[in-house]
Amino acid sequence: MAITRTLTLSLCICFLLFFNVCKASTQPMTIGGEANTETSVLSAKQLRIDSLFLYIDSEEMDSAEEFETAMAEIESLLTTDDIARQARFLRFQCRQFDDIQEGETEKAIAFATQSLAKPFMDQYHQDRLDLELCKSWYIERSGDFDTAVAGYSAVIKEATQRQELLLIADGRSIRGGLLRYQGLFSQALEDLIIAHDLYVKLDRQLEAEDLLAGIATAFRQMGNYKNALKYYLQIEAKHTEDSNLDGFNYIQVMIGITEEELGHLDEALNRFMQAYQYWEAQGDLVVRAEVAVNLASALIHMQDIPQAMAYLDEAEEVIEPDNFQTYSFMKLFRAQALLVNNQLDEAHINLEAARQSFDSVSNLRGTEQLLELESKLFFQQKDYLQAYTSLTRYLEVHQQLNRQRTSGQTIAMRTQFNSQQIELENKHLVENQKLKQHEVEILEINKLQQLIIIVMGSMILIILAVLTFKQSQKNRFLSVLAMTDHLTQLPNRRHIYQKAQSFFEHARHNKHPFSVITFDADHFKLVNDTFGHEAGDIALQHIANSAQSLMRNNQIVGRTGGEEFLILLPATSLTAAMRIATQLVNSVKEADYSALPTGFSLTISAGVSTLQASDLQLATLINRADDALYSAKNAGRNQAACQKC
Ligand code: GH3
Ligand code: MG
Ligand code: MG
Repeated sequence: MAITRTLTLSLCICFLLFFNVCKASTQPMTIGGEANTETSVLSAKQLRIDSLFLYIDSEEMDSAEEFETAMAEIESLLTTDDIARQARFLRFQCRQFDDIQEGETEKAIAFATQSLAKPFMDQYHQDRLDLELCKSWYIERSGDFDTAVAGYSAVIKEATQRQELLLIADGRSIRGGLLRYQGLFSQALEDLIIAHDLYVKLDRQLEAEDLLAGIATAFRQMGNYKNALKYYLQIEAKHTEDSNLDGFNYIQVMIGITEEELGHLDEALNRFMQAYQYWEAQGDLVVRAEVAVNLASALIHMQDIPQAMAYLDEAEEVIEPDNFQTYSFMKLFRAQALLVNNQLDEAHINLEAARQSFDSVSNLRGTEQLLELESKLFFQQKDYLQAYTSLTRYLEVHQQLNRQRTSGQTIAMRTQFNSQQIELENKHLVENQKLKQHEVEILEINKLQQLIIIVMGSMILIILAVLTFKQSQKNRFLSVLAMTDHLTQLPNRRHIYQKAQSFFEHARHNKHPFSVITFDADHFKLVNDTFGHEAGDIALQHIANSAQSLMRNNQIVGRTGGEEFLILLPATSLTAAMRIATQLVNSVKEADYSALPTGFSLTISAGVSTLQASDLQLATLINRADDALYSAKNAGRNQAACQKC
């Protein structure tokens, strides 16, 4: 309990010192009123001052010495005409007073009052309001809580009118701390929750975390230990994550106090001891003494009076009466220990000191404990009337506090904050869930896309395959068309000559026999003239069929012109070729022409030649066959002839 107040104050000072500077330094510097933005080019000095303001704010600067060095440099650079920076500087100067030292609080209040009286201060509302806040803070430290609360309230009111969100948050944060201390829980919670909300909205995490600790303490003081622990443990986890040792040990004390109030004395003692040892190692005697008071409280509950007394003695050497929070509880606990030891007069002396301290700061919660103890003390002394009076007063205060703790507004605020926090947690869960859902959806979409791609790809491949197949069929058909004689369906001239060339080369190369037959319809002009052109066509088809039916293996017949044909006979001697030619002549003559007009008859003449070693060109071979054909015509037609046979 003792440490609560002082550490909260220390944190507030740090907060005011180091974080408000940030707000000041990050706002644009102005001259001649906040509406007129400085248009002149900044001088080197001004730039240096601005960078020092930023440095003061940065995390690099974490000691009071560094702060003072930076402030001294700013002071040396400041010019009297630069009123914007003067105003800002005054605002920071206000936080330089060490309120723990004798007389510093009064000096700080005087300084703030003088600074606020400066005529140019009216132009800089933020700096002015911040100075007002600073002044009220030192007024609170001096013990004049009513004036301090009035000061905070005035700042909050004007900041609200001017919509200065950070100043509203700062004002409510400090006022909330004081109101909570006084046991005015509903007003305190309203301030703390609004400030917390604003800091979260303004993305000021450090301040929001501090406020969360303050709200947790409010829950604890209202007897809602479960919620208090929940938030303390959240903050503890955060400090562990950030390796914030000061913050971690501060929270140890808060958790310890809560555990103590829950009756978990060993747990409480462990936590206090951890913090005690930490601050001892840090060489911070004041904070160590404050934790010693907490240790004493736990030890009294554990009935270890000698050990508790030892810690209280240690604290007594360091804790001054103006450290109201710790001093009052230190005295109260000593009175408690003395009561157990039956040192009743001494207990009364300490009780009086505690009473003065609690009264000076209107600490109802302290007074409540004090009256309960006082009643026991009188009871022990068998002064039952006084014991009854104290008990009656205790009950009054207890009921008053209970009203505060259970007032509709307090419960509403408490519920609202808890549900807001739960909502926030749920929101995170829902967001995570949504994120996962989204990922699953994306995966499913990807799968679907892949499937579509596979299906479409396959379809395209099939279509392409079909098209390719059809095209190849068409090409083949076209090439067949291109190489086939339409009337007879035999290879056309181009085709048969290609084949002839190929056979010729192959035969020459391999010195294989190769013979050819050229043949021509006899008096075909007369046939056409006599029986008509159509009959002539049919006759040509008959000739083609007769020739085709004689072909064996790779023997080929083709139509080379109107009624002229060529037969290729690979691996065939001249004799064998003559035999085929003769067969052909006979088969044409004897074919069945009954479908043609009566009296129709047809003959052909053929010329045969065979490959000779001297044949360098295909034409030579074919020309010889043509010559033989010519001979057959001349010899009376309807016969085959060959060269040199
Ligand atoms: P020869 O015995 O000396 O070969 O006498 P021929 O009448 O057959 O020879 P010629 O070269 O004088 O006449 C060839 C005829 O063949 C002329 C042409 O009308 C006919 N002919 C050529 N191509 C076709 C065709 O596709 N259909 C028809 N019906 N007749 C054709
Ligand atoms: Mg002819
Ligand atoms: Mg002819």
